[in-house]
Amino acid sequence: MTTPPPFPDSTPILPINGRNLAYAAHLLRAGGLVAFPTETVYGLGCDATNGAAVARLYAAKGRPHFNPLISHVPTVEAAFRIGKPTPLARLLAENFWPGPLTLVLERQPDCPVADLATAGLDSVAVRVPARDDARDFLAAIGRPVAAPSANASGQISPTDAEAVKASLDGRISLILDGGATAVGLESTILDARGETPVLLRPGGVSLEEIASVTGPITRPAKVDQQAPDAPGMLTSHYAPCKPVRLNATEVSEDEALLAFGKPLSGAAAVENLSRDGDLIEAAANLFRLLRLLDRTETARIAVMPIPDTGLGHAINDRLTRAAAPR
Ligand code: AMP
Ligand code: MG
Repeated sequence: MTTPPPFPDSTPILPINGRNLAYAAHLLRAGGLVAFPTETVYGLGCDATNGAAVARLYAAKGRPHFNPLISHVPTVEAAFRIGKPTPLARLLAENFWPGPLTLVLERQPDCPVADLATAGLDSVAVRVPARDDARDFLAAIGRPVAAPSANASGQISPTDAEAVKASLDGRISLILDGGATAVGLESTILDARGETPVLLRPGGVSLEEIASVTGPITRPAKVDQQAPDAPGMLTSHYAPCKPVRLNATEVSEDEALLAFGKPLSGAAAVENLSRDGDLIEAAANLFRLLRLLDRTETARIAVMPIPDTGLGHAINDRLTRAAAPR
């Protein structure tokens, strides 16, 4: 892993202008975390193609679980380079992009977005934000930018630079200040993989506006759209097909081992989340290695204990779900 720029003790706030955009883009490409305004709320951006940067973003927010993040891009063309366009997606893009609408699409085969940014799913969520300065920033970066709201987990989404600083000071590289955001609501999220749009989260573009273009919208029946925890719950999370056994302190020869630190010996196959016991590296590797082990000819996946501190909470949350009987 390359060394990312260190986080300053006091995170600077710089006005969002041409020169500062170039500097911010450089920080972000080097693996840093940069908060920037979009028309909805301030996003905390990182290079979506860099798994370790995504892991640091989760650590900075203190999120107790991994949920898929939205990849932000400057143009419709860039969006469809990472997600496969359907006729519905093209129609929605024509009418609502740039704007506060996120589309969930199938990943393109060569989609560079890191597994951790999509929480291991085969789909990818993409958005082209409306603000010109936000799109200039994304264009300067030249890679998809994962950007959940720029606040610590459990706090409300920030609509100005001072609110970002109050929530994440010292935990991120830089805050680009573009004044108060216009919409103040998060983006509407639609699954656009089929023929009719499926509502995953209401937001900045109203359902009436969407329906006037696409016809009826499907709403998944059993989700409570108002529950604070709902966004993460709306997706069927990636889980391996094989049974998963946690906190393994020994391993048998019909098992595939997901190691952390010094690996146990005796397994049929071994992948190591992090030899050095680094939780950032482990988070960045989690979904890819689970998939690899899931494809081995073994009875189950045994997972070595992972400390329940920092990012370890989110890693253990995901592994515990993977181990739950289905
Ligand atoms: P936000 O908190 O605004 O960054 O939005 C993240 C939310 O987008 C997630 O919690 C999901 O509800 C949704 N999302 C992102 N990626 C996907 C995906 N691949 N499939 C379904 N929903 C997604
Ligand atoms: Mg949020």
